[in-house]
Amino acid sequence: MLLNPFNYHSPKTLKEACNLLDTLKNARILSGGTFLVNNLKSLKRRGLKTPDDIISLQKIPEIKGIQIKSDKIMIGAMTTLNNIAQDKNVEKHYPILRIVSENIASTQIRNMATIGGNVACRYAWTEFASCLIALEATLHFAEKKKLKEISAESFFKNNAKPEGLLTSISIPIKKDIIAIYKRVSKTPGVDLPMLTVCIKVSLKKNTLLDVRVVINDGASFSKRDVSIEKALEGSNLDENIEGKFLSNLNPETYKLDNEYKKELLRIHSKYAIQKLLVQINDNA
Ligand SMILES: Cc1cc2nc3c(=O)[nH]c(=O)nc-3n(C[C@H](O)[C@H](O)[C@H](O)COP(=O)(O)OP(=O)(O)OC[C@H]3O[C@@H](n4cnc5c(N)ncnc54)[C@H](O)[C@@H]3O)c2cc1C
Repeated sequence: MLLNPFNYHSPKTLKEACNLLDTLKNARILSGGTFLVNNLKSLKRRGLKTPDDIISLQKIPEIKGIQIKSDKIMIGAMTTLNNIAQDKNVEKHYPILRIVSENIASTQIRNMATIGGNVACRYAWTEFASCLIALEATLHFAEKKKLKEISAESFFKNNAKPEGLLTSISIPIKKDIIAIYKRVSKTPGVDLPMLTVCIKVSLKKNTLLDVRVVINDGASFSKRDVSIEKALEGSNLDENIEGKFLSNLNPETYKLDNEYKKELLRIHSKYAIQKLLVQINDNA
């Protein structure tokens, strides 16, 4: 047997799922299973303890799908990556979410994998983190009959430990936002990212405002590069934006263990800022 035996629970409401999570001592949540099932196999192979109970979220409709609610785009944790890639509201307000989704794995995986699982799996390199931080997203959790909200930025700063069950992700809809995402992997096919750069700005009268630059070095959770943000904030498009960006990038502040990776970050940061400037030009 590849897996150790466990009790399988398939609640039909969020309330039921939260009750199970509160009462069962050694339970794990199952969303699409693309990560968890491999993880359970690996734990068994290594002789480590595996969960006694699995709580599947598949039959809970209230945490699936994408809606617009009071100037926010709300994405249910059980929304699959392909649903995100194909959603009209995502395309209208934040096409960067489609780009991130489409980069991940294969169609088959994207049909099963959920955004909740991507955010909650606690692997530092997973890709939604950067753009959720850049877009100032809030994560909504349900735990012990309480609802909690935490900014994506704080969540990933604190090692991405889910506080109960992640129910949804909300992103404020703002005008004049331009966001780009640059990903580097060893091969062009299905491959995990080595590093990623996400830049979001709000463009007002040719001035860059609310700048967020989020970098993932592949070894630690995505984080904002405040030095670059400060340097770009309030800059006019007539200024040397690319120069400002690159002169404030310090690869030493990232977990890049050799010169090759540091150079990779410099080169791809250059591509990323150029991509942003092209997009600004295209939108003008
Ligand atoms: C071949 C392959 C290639 C991949 N390539 C990439 C890639 O390039 N980039 C990338 O970012 N990712 C990649 N992934 C990872 C993929 O994005 C994740 O496997 C997927 O998003 C996890 O979602 P899931 O619904 O399958 O989660 P599951 O496997 O069901 O769960 C993952 C973890 O999160 C927990 N969890 C799930 N949902 C919740 C919730 N709502 N609340 C609290 N905890 C929860 C589970 O308990 C488990 O620990 C790849 C995966 C595979 C198999």
